[in-house]
Amino acid sequence: MQLKRVDQIQLRGERVLVRVDFNVPMEKSLITDDIRIREALPTLKYILENGGSLVILSHLGRPKGKRNLEYSLAPIAKHLSSLLNKPVTMAPDCIGVEVEKLAERLPAGGILLLENLRFYEAEEEPEKDPSFAKQLANLGTVYINDAFGAAHRAHSSTTEIVRYFPKKKGMGFLMAKEVSTLSKIFQNPDRPFYALVGGAKISSKIGVLDTLLAKADALFIGGGMAFTFFKASGIEVGKSLVDTEHLETAKGVLAKAKQKKVPIYLPTDVVIADGAKVLSIENGLPPDAAGLDIGPKTIEAWKKELEKAKTVFWNGPMGMFEKPPFEQGTFAIASLIASLNAMTVIGGGDSAAAAEQLGFANRFTHISTGGGAALEFIEFGSLVALDALKM
Ligand code: ADP
Ligand code: MG
Repeated sequence: MQLKRVDQIQLRGERVLVRVDFNVPMEKSLITDDIRIREALPTLKYILENGGSLVILSHLGRPKGKRNLEYSLAPIAKHLSSLLNKPVTMAPDCIGVEVEKLAERLPAGGILLLENLRFYEAEEEPEKDPSFAKQLANLGTVYINDAFGAAHRAHSSTTEIVRYFPKKKGMGFLMAKEVSTLSKIFQNPDRPFYALVGGAKISSKIGVLDTLLAKADALFIGGGMAFTFFKASGIEVGKSLVDTEHLETAKGVLAKAKQKKVPIYLPTDVVIADGAKVLSIENGLPPDAAGLDIGPKTIEAWKKELEKAKTVFWNGPMGMFEKPPFEQGTFAIASLIASLNAMTVIGGGDSAAAAEQLGFANRFTHISTGGGAALEFIEFGSLVALDALKM
C-alpha cells in the first residue's frame, strides 16, 4: 500500500486518532519550549476543518510504565486549547471505560487529549500486553501518525496500532515535511555535503557516522563526541567526556574514512573548564582538564571549509553551550551555517535549541523535530512507523 497523507483520507464524520510527539521540555509543569506542539497544529487544524474529531495520543518523558502525574499531559491540554482557541478535554487516562465514553461522546470538531501513553509498560514494550494497542485503536476510526520524533520506535501507538486500521491510516503534514526533506539528503544531496556531529549522546550517534561517511563529502566531529575519537587515536583527553565502550567503534569510523578518502575534521584546539583556557590538542590534554568547547583556531578553520557547502546536516552542539562562555563554538558554527546559501538541516533537540536561542531558527532550511529519528532516517532511508503505515 502507498503511504497516504492526511489530506488523501476521508475525514468527515470520523473520529481521528492522531499520534503526535508532545514530548516537550517542562519545568515544574510549565512548558519551556512548545515548538513540537506548534509543529503539529497544521495536521490537527486540517482534521477539524474537514469535519473530523480528534483523539490525540502522545508520550511525555520517561515515567517507565507507571502512572506518575509528574508526567501528566494536563498542562499540554491547556496550552493546546489556547493555541487552537478551542476547548480540549483532558482524558483521565489513555485507555479504559471512562476514556472510551469520552471518545464516543466526542462531537464533530471535538478534541480529546489522552493521558501519557507511557504510563503503561506496553507502550514501549508492546509484547507485554498486545491488548493495549487494541484498546487505543478502539478509541478512533482513522489513524494518523504525525509523531516524527517517535517514528523510529516500534511502540504500541506507532507500529502496533496500525493493524487495526487496514485502510484508514496515514501520516500527518509534519511527518510528510520531515520525510521529504530528509529523503533529499538520503538520496541525492547537492554537493559538497558536509555533516557536523557533536553533543553528548555518543553511544546513540556514533553508529550513524558510518552511514554519514557513505554519503557526506566530509565529516566534522565536535562537542563531547570528539574526545572519544582523540582517545581512540591515543591522544590523552584528561577529564573530557569519553565513551570508553565505543573506542573501537571510533577507530572503525576513522579507518573507514581513510579508506573512503572522506576527510574527518576534529578540533585542533579546545576550551577547557578551568578558567576557560584554550589548549591545543596536538600533544593531549593534562590529566585534570575537561574540554567543553571547540577553540578559536578550530572555529576559523571549520568556517573556511563549511563555507563551500551546498548541503549541511548538523546534529549535536559543538560545546556545552548552555554554560557561557562555552557557547561560542556552537554559536559561531550555527551562525555560519545559517548564513549559507545551501540546504541546511538541524536534527537534535539541543542543537535546535541553540539555533533558537540565537534567533536563527528560521534561517535554516529545516529543523527536524526528532534527533534520533532524523539520524535513523538518514541511515536507513525509512523508519519503522512509516513502514507500518504502508502495510
Ligand atoms: P542533540 O539534542 O542536539 O542531539 P545531544 O543531546 O547529543 O544533542 O547533546 C547535547 C548536550 O551535549 C548539551 O547539553 C551540551 O552541553 C553537551 N555537550 C556538548 N559538548 C560537550 C562537551 N565537550 N562536554 C560535555 N558535554 C558537552
Ligand atoms: Mg539532546
